[in-house]
Amino acid sequence: MRELANELRTWLDWAQESGLQNLAPGKRDVPTVEVKPKVKLPLLEAVRTELGECTRCKLHKSRTNIVFGVGSPEARLMFVGEAPGEDEDLQGFPFVGKAGQLLTKMIEAMGLRREDVYICNTVKCRPPNNRNPEPDELLACEPFLKGQLGAVKPEVIVTLGKFAAQSLLRDSTPITRLRGQWREYEGIPVMPTFHPAYLLRSPAEKGKVWDDLKQVMKKLDLKVPKGGGS
Ligand code: URA
Repeated sequence: MRELANELRTWLDWAQESGLQNLAPGKRDVPTVEVKPKVKLPLLEAVRTELGECTRCKLHKSRTNIVFGVGSPEARLMFVGEAPGEDEDLQGFPFVGKAGQLLTKMIEAMGLRREDVYICNTVKCRPPNNRNPEPDELLACEPFLKGQLGAVKPEVIVTLGKFAAQSLLRDSTPITRLRGQWREYEGIPVMPTFHPAYLLRSPAEKGKVWDDLKQVMKKLDLKVPKGGGS
């Protein structure tokens, strides 16, 4: 034991003399390793459990699947869309149809993968014939969106389209004026932008969305590529 202690002392002396300053016992400024426990997944699962086989609003009558959300619980960036469409309702995942394919391209243009971000909607069930979500439906689903945001705690939220922006921000300003301007939701920066389904109908607007996403990349300290994005 004494031999081991002597060896350790010799090694610590050597380490200190060699400039490895923080190894000797009692030394101040010992570097700490930040241990980040992965607590967000259970938090998110708790929100999903609370949602259950929801019947809180009338949308449950016509849905096939609840579309809760997809992606990394540790995501720095969260996309919030409007409501599931037909493909999403059938598959149970958000943004898997044509608009979803465009969203995936937008995410990849940012240098990220779908698995790096978290994607969900303001309402978790498909409105019949893709009509707009009604106020009582938005209200019934709001606690679950709040729960998802509270669990993931992203560094930035991107809202897609008028409904997500207006309901999250409680602001009825038209999306044409909301988009591209930083807002805040409970201390988290929010960038409202156009919905990818709108971009499919109006491809000339893609440049504006790319400008918005570049602002998001800057905020997240991601490398902003020159040009591109469309
Ligand atoms: N549009 C949305 O707003 N959300 C989806 O999940 C799919 C299409």
